[in-house]
Amino acid sequence: AKNCGRNTFSYYTAQMNQCAQRRLAIEEQIHGALNRNEFSVFYQVKTNLSNGKIMGAEALLRWNNPALGNVPPDEFIAIAEQTGNIIQLGKFVLEQSLKQTALWHKEYQQDFQIAVNLSPRQFRDPQLVQFIDDTLKANNVHASNLELEITEGVLLSGYNYVESMLNSITQMGVKMAMDDFGTGYSSLSYLRTYPFDVIKIDRSFINEIATAEKDRALINAIISMSHALNLKVVAEGIETEEQCQYLRKVNCDLGQGYLFSKPISAQAMTKLLDSTFQI
Ligand code: C2E
Ligand code: CA
Ligand code: CA
Ligand code: CA
Repeated sequence: AKNCGRNTFSYYTAQMNQCAQRRLAIEEQIHGALNRNEFSVFYQVKTNLSNGKIMGAEALLRWNNPALGNVPPDEFIAIAEQTGNIIQLGKFVLEQSLKQTALWHKEYQQDFQIAVNLSPRQFRDPQLVQFIDDTLKANNVHASNLELEITEGVLLSGYNYVESMLNSITQMGVKMAMDDFGTGYSSLSYLRTYPFDVIKIDRSFINEIATAEKDRALINAIISMSHALNLKVVAEGIETEEQCQYLRKVNCDLGQGYLFSKPISAQAMTKLLDSTFQI
């Protein structure tokens, strides 16, 4: 199942056949997996870089299947997009994470921010906006505590109602974050057109902070531009103290990455919040 990447050029080989089989197995297994309770939501903390405080977390989907083991989201999300399963999965993540956030609000921190990823297909669901509103209300979570992370893929999807859906969502008070910033083709023009509140600098820029002067220059430029536009900046994939120091120095607002914590279960996250907020 390794090397099933998109950019591997090769002749038809046993390996390609293996990839096709893996894909088929995933398609087969994903059907009904939600009802079999194979999915769960993990959480990765977002830290305020200026004072080190936990500000919130990103919800990340996990799938454990008896036949396939742990299937990484990079593998199954794209397939769920094509099969349409992403609609149900996306609802599950939003419901679970808002239910959990309500508990954390009560126990630890009233302004804990929860970020949830939305993929292109979810924007073809005419009920998306209503579903977000209903789920916030059902769990008594204020709209401003929810952030939705989208990539260029959503905006590229070419549906003319994406813009009006994004506007309705932000009018509710929900925040919009542009994910994987810097990896797409027209990130800047999207910033002009759509109502973003947050930019997440892609991990690939953070990786090379120590060695690549160009990446540092780009990070500085992204941060100054974002602040001029009144956007908050999150750096993702912070793994070393050195990267963190640098990002703090150039006034990056928030950080996320293994340095702070890997994505962890709700239970483990509760323990983390417990040790952070209780004395
Ligand atoms: P993403 O939204 O860019 O999420 C960040 C990914 O980077 C996560 O991978 C996270 O575990 C990983 N990561 C965080 N910190 C570090 C670090 O310091 N180093 C490294 N090497 N990696 C780090 P994950 O959980 O495997 O998710 C992969 C992608 O799958 C996500 O990328 C997102 O595009 C998608 N995904 C995950 N959950 C959902 C979901 O509920 N809905 C949708 N639509 N997509 C999801
Ligand atoms: Ca994300
Ligand atoms: Ca990202
Ligand atoms: Ca990504």
